[in-house]
Amino acid sequence: MAYIEPAPIKDEQNPFEAMMSRFHIASQILGIDDEVYNVLKNPAKQVIVSLPITMDDGSIKVFEGFRVIHSNILGPSKGGIRFDPGVHLDEVKALAAWMTWKCAVVDIPYGGAKGGIRCNPREMSSGEIERLTRAYTLSMLEIFGPDRDIPAPDMGTGPREMAWLMDEYSRTQGMTINSVVTGKPLVLGGSLGRTEATGRGVMVSALAAMEKLKINPYKATCAVQGFGNVGSYAALLLEERGVKIVAISDLSGAYYNENGIDIEAARKYNEQNKGSLEGFKDAEVIGGEDLLALDVDVLVPAATEDVITSHNVNNIKAKLIVEGANGPTSAKADTVIADKGIMVAPDILANAGGVTVSYFEWVQNRLGYKWTGERVNRRSDRIMKDAFDNVYRTSQEYDVSMRIAAYIVAIDKVAKTYKFRGGY
Ligand code: GLU
Repeated sequence: MAYIEPAPIKDEQNPFEAMMSRFHIASQILGIDDEVYNVLKNPAKQVIVSLPITMDDGSIKVFEGFRVIHSNILGPSKGGIRFDPGVHLDEVKALAAWMTWKCAVVDIPYGGAKGGIRCNPREMSSGEIERLTRAYTLSMLEIFGPDRDIPAPDMGTGPREMAWLMDEYSRTQGMTINSVVTGKPLVLGGSLGRTEATGRGVMVSALAAMEKLKINPYKATCAVQGFGNVGSYAALLLEERGVKIVAISDLSGAYYNENGIDIEAARKYNEQNKGSLEGFKDAEVIGGEDLLALDVDVLVPAATEDVITSHNVNNIKAKLIVEGANGPTSAKADTVIADKGIMVAPDILANAGGVTVSYFEWVQNRLGYKWTGERVNRRSDRIMKDAFDNVYRTSQEYDVSMRIAAYIVAIDKVAKTYKFRGGY
């Protein structure tokens, strides 16, 4: 495999360094010039706001909010908003860049952005979250817009928050503008298929990779880390295609059953149990690290960043890793994974089904026309499969891992577009 010296990594847990390290390798292989390298390396815009919110007890709490636009070279920037206590600028910068690469890999006409608010939505009332969402939207009025920057859900947010965002933005414009945000509830112009879209793309990528590795889905086992929107749908849809899901996990712990977990039952349990698997019966409780080390065919990290690092990568026994989360593997772990001959369907490919259907939602809003769920799924499956094949071909052509191949596809596209558009 072609070897390029990675950029030095000071802090393995820093997502921006993780992104830069792969960006650096792929840029060198492509031989892009310094000017373009510097343009793509630096986010186009970074906004940090302070949001004073009246809490239910009458006190005022100040929250920090971020929006980073990494690039708008391919089109308006696109990317979710994360509500999480761990949100910080370097994380949002990395996630924004990953959106640029992701949109380029699946060839949709968007640049990349990401937003976040440092807060713990699990400890806040619905009213507090609503006020926070509306205040954030108002503070980003100059940033957001259907042709400028289009937010969407991410960790800790969903259709409810997108509805508030759409409503607040629309009030300021004096008319309903639903194309300013995607991932909305169906009645507000959300798209059929959007909720399960990321998990569905993970399933399509996993099946495409299994075909290359000659793994029969009906004989395959899989462990899924994370049981939020991405992990739970990925597990359900893989199970529907014959894969035996032997382990799932969430913040409450990991759950293992060698005969396979009934994912529909786990989803129902999770829903009735306020979004937690705590106390789930049909499985044995194991440690979170044990899940990653299970002897399964497929491992789907669908929780958060940096869960596979130089500290635990040697324990991994899976033949295939399909990244439902953004940035679950540290850059230092990449080399070990490659040495072990494990195939990775990387985040910027495998979890791009979400933004693909976000794009369809935006297109439908602008047309004022609703697609059938069948049309949404058919088109997104095709986009995901074509993107997988393209990245696979690129990995063969350059003799690099699937991850570096995905960056090569993305950087090449954005760099060529930049050259046509030109700078100052
Ligand atoms: N937050 C999702 C992601 O990381 C979806 C973004 C979008 O739909 O714009 O891909």
